[in-house]
Order: sequence, then C-alpha cells, then structure tokens
Amino acid sequence: MSEFDAIIIGSGIGGLVTATQLAAKGAKVLVLERYLIPGGSAGYFERQGYRFDVGASMIFGFGQQGTTNLLTRALAAVGENIETIPDNVQIHYHLPNGLEVKVERDYQEFLQNITACFPHEQQGIRRFYDECWKVFNYLNSMDLLSLEEPRYLVRSLLQHPLSCLGLARYLPLNVGDIARKYIQDSDLLKFIDIECYCWSVVPAAMTPMINAGMVFSDRHYGGVNYPKGGVGQIAQKLVQGLEKAGGKIIYQARVTKILLEKDCAVGVKLANGETYHAKKIVSNATRWDTFGKLISPKDVPINEIKWQERYKKSPSFLSLHMGVKAEVLPIGTECHHILLEDWEKMMDGEGTIFVSIPTLLDPDLAPAGHHIIHAFTPNWLADWQELSPTNSDNSSKSRAKEAAAERVIKRLEKIFPGLDAGLDFLEVGTPSTHRKYLGREDGTYGPIPRRKLPGLLRMPFNRTAIPGLYCVGDSTFPGQGLNAVAFSGFACAHRIAVDLRL
Ligand SMILES: Cc1cc2nc3c(=O)[nH]c(=O)nc-3n(C[C@H](O)[C@H](O)[C@H](O)COP(=O)(O)OP(=O)(O)OC[C@H]3O[C@@H](n4cnc5c(N)ncnc54)[C@H](O)[C@@H]3O)c2cc1C
Repeated sequence: MSEFDAIIIGSGIGGLVTATQLAAKGAKVLVLERYLIPGGSAGYFERQGYRFDVGASMIFGFGQQGTTNLLTRALAAVGENIETIPDNVQIHYHLPNGLEVKVERDYQEFLQNITACFPHEQQGIRRFYDECWKVFNYLNSMDLLSLEEPRYLVRSLLQHPLSCLGLARYLPLNVGDIARKYIQDSDLLKFIDIECYCWSVVPAAMTPMINAGMVFSDRHYGGVNYPKGGVGQIAQKLVQGLEKAGGKIIYQARVTKILLEKDCAVGVKLANGETYHAKKIVSNATRWDTFGKLISPKDVPINEIKWQERYKKSPSFLSLHMGVKAEVLPIGTECHHILLEDWEKMMDGEGTIFVSIPTLLDPDLAPAGHHIIHAFTPNWLADWQELSPTNSDNSSKSRAKEAAAERVIKRLEKIFPGLDAGLDFLEVGTPSTHRKYLGREDGTYGPIPRRKLPGLLRMPFNRTAIPGLYCVGDSTFPGQGLNAVAFSGFACAHRIAVDLRL
C-alpha cells in the first residue's frame, strides 16, 4: 500500500508549486530534497553578513491581477504571501556600438527609449511589442492549468474561445518569425535577439513566441518585483504553506532511483537505502537527471530519446557573488544589467554578462554601506574538467577561477568604475558548483532547442511515457524561469489531481 498520494523529487519552485497545489487539494504529499534547504536555483546562501541569491533575482509572477501572477497565486493557495519591492527598470542594457537601453516598467516609456535609438523603426517597434501583448492578454484571461486535461481544454474553449484560438495560432511560432515581419534594421533585430537570449539563452529565431508574450508584456503589467528578504523567501514560504496543509518535506534526502513495478513508477529509493512509495511520482530534476540516472538507461522510453535529439543542455554559468562598498555604484544605478561588447559573441562562453544588484531594492541583504553584485556569464563544465579539482589556493582550478573572475570584473569596470578596488567579498561559482549544489547535469540552465523548432509545440507536458511518473520544472512546458516553472507546477498538480480523482 502506498504511504503517500504523491512523492515530489526536489524542492525547486516547480516541485514546491506541485506539492503545495496537491496538498491544498487534500493529497498526502512528500517532498524529498537532496540539499539542506529548499529552492534549487531559487535558493540562497549566506556569507559574512551577505545573503546571496543562488541564481534568479529578476522575478516575474508577483503581480496582483490577471491569471499569470502564478507566484502570488501559488503562495495564496496555501495561505502565504510575500512582501515584494517593485523594480522600476527590468534591465539596463549596455550593448555594442554604445547602444544603451533601459526597459522601463512603464510600457510607453520603454517604447520611447527604444524608439529614440531606432527612430526609423518607430512603427515596427510598436507593432512587434503590441503583438507580444496579444499573446499575453490571451494567457492572462484564463486559468493556466494542464493542457493534458481534456475537460479543462473544453471548458477553456467554451469560456475563452478567442484566447484559445489565438494561443493555438502562436504555439508553433518563434519570436524571430514575428520580429522580422515588422522590423528591418539589423541592429534592432540583434536587440530583439538579446531581449530573448537573456532568459531563453537562444536567439529570437529559436525562442517560442508564447514565452516572449509573457516576458515582454508582464514586465509592464505585473512587473518585476523582488521578494523582501531575498529570493529564497519564495521557497521558504511555500514549504511553510506545504507543512500547514499537511504535506511533509525531508532534506538531505537524495533520490537515487525511481522504483518501477510492472513498468509503472511506484516509489523511490534514497542514497541511504530508504524507500518510499506513492501512487504518483513527480521528478523536479532535469530530464537528463531523471531519464538515465533516476530511471536506468534500459527503462528510458523512446520518446525521451527522441526529445534529447531535439533539445540539448544549455550552458551553465560562471557566477561571481560579490560584496562591494556602496560607493562603487553610481547614484541611480538600476538593479539588473546586461553587458555585451560584440554582437558576434552574444552566445559565446563569457560573452554576455548578466548582473543583478538586489540590495538596491532590499538593502537588508548586505551589511550597512555595502551592496551585493551577482554577475554571471555562460560557461561550460567541459572547460573545467581538465583542471585539478583540489581546494588548494594554488590548484590549476583555483588559478583559472581567479583569472576568469578578473576578466569579468575588468569588463564590469566600464559600468561600475572602481569595482575591483571596492570589493569586500568574492566567491566564484563554476558549472561544477551549479552541478554540485543544484543537482543539475553539467550545471545546465535547462533545455534549449538543437535547431529551430516550431515554437513550444515539442516541449513535453507533465505526464511521461512511464505510467505514474510525471516531470515538473524547467525541463517541461513552458521552460525556464520562476514563473514558468510555477506554471508547470500548477499544470502538473492539476493533471495528478484529476488522475487521483481528488
Ligand atoms: C544563474 C541563474 C540566474 C537565473 N536568473 C533568473 C531570473 O532572474 N529570473 C527567473 O525567473 N529565473 C532565473 N533563472 C532560472 C530559474 O532559476 C530556474 O528556471 C528555476 O528556478 C528552475 O526551477 P525548477 O523547479 O525547474 O528546478 P531547480 O531549481 O533545479 O530545483 C530542482 C530541485 O530538485 C533537487 N533535486 C534534484 N535531483 C534530486 C534528487 N535526485 N533527489 C532529491 N532532490 C533532487 C535539487 O536539489 C533542487 O532543489 C536563473 C537560473 C540561474 C542558474
């Protein structure tokens, strides 16, 4: 007999939204997390009075209206909420040929900013971004649940026929298809590329229009809002809500195997040898970790092998977690920056640099008179594997980390002169750090298409070909980002609740 209705492997935001949604519906839920705290890529760590976000700092989904505010909704479902601090500029771009663009929270102000850089494309700019709003408005008019649940699909079609048909039209499209309809200027098209790349890690031609509709519009609607106390608060509050709703979480519980009986998933085995059984098993690990590690290669379904022929692992990141003296930041500095000096290098390792300074919104995350700067840039595990892994200061890996950090800091000096001299703390994470602490193969940020695919059509939903086994998180529809994995969590819990007849 199964002890639990559902076991969730992993407490990333995708896993926790699934768990809390199910617990709120009365299911008996167990979450097994390999690390010491919840959150995965949305976790945190503390050093010398600084509280650093592990990854995400630009948070969507905390709006107060519509249906796309999935983090607000996920917390509310278990009686929780978080104080958030609005961010008035999503990103300040520092791009080649002196192109400086601020994406203001106010849509009209953003259009004015970008039009000032490309006045001859005024009409094309408005038509492109307005088309993204169409997608967003369709999404934001209906409950976002499981597209694998036929009764929900019929209900949505009857209640919101225009939205459903509209979304069906955009589902196979990529941003590049739409941008090229309206825009000719090659530099502006490159700007649209980096607008996509900074969250999809692929250019516009390969970025699904559904995701762009969300990001390019919600930043001006619900807006980007930072959780007071740091991003780690989201997972902490979800766990609080889960436990209040009767769910359970165990930390330092690394699942090594999903147990199958007659080809159905029935339980899990932990590294310490313990086993747990449930009616439904959900993996919040990446697809590469789920199929091939938790499910042994001989049991991997053929459709998963085909999926890996279409999608590959995106690079990981080299992350610099810095504590700096406050005077390093010029007055009026924005929280999020992107730096790229050469368009040709946008997708290269150490090409684009992403920067978040969350203490500009929540000063309590650093000692008085100091700020946190998290700078990260794409990087591959393979580049580090040859280097000696010892922890000695003189190992080849330590020297390579120091040299990589110096390169990033030197480039950032252009935006923040005096950064190097103002450093109070520095910790460098490599792809192996991401792999070790997040349990993600090669430390990958998530799946990216190997070639141009028809929008989101090929991204898998939550059910798998193994009965009783579901996946949730950024290896499922609609992909990476906290609000996106929350969407995946809502959909996963919805499908399981129907399967369990809750
Ligand atoms: C550097 C960086 C910056 C980012 N910036 C942003 C941003 O600004 N905004 C944004 O929205 N998104 C951002 N993202 C992306 C976002 O953080 C992720 O898409 C999202 O958090 C992934 O959530 P998830 O639930 O899919 O999985 P994860 O966060 O990967 O969580 C999976 C969990 O499962 C656990 N686990 C894995 N295997 C096992 C096992 N075998 N047994 C038990 N537990 C296991 C892991 O320990 C982890 O806790 C960023 C990501 C990174 C890395």
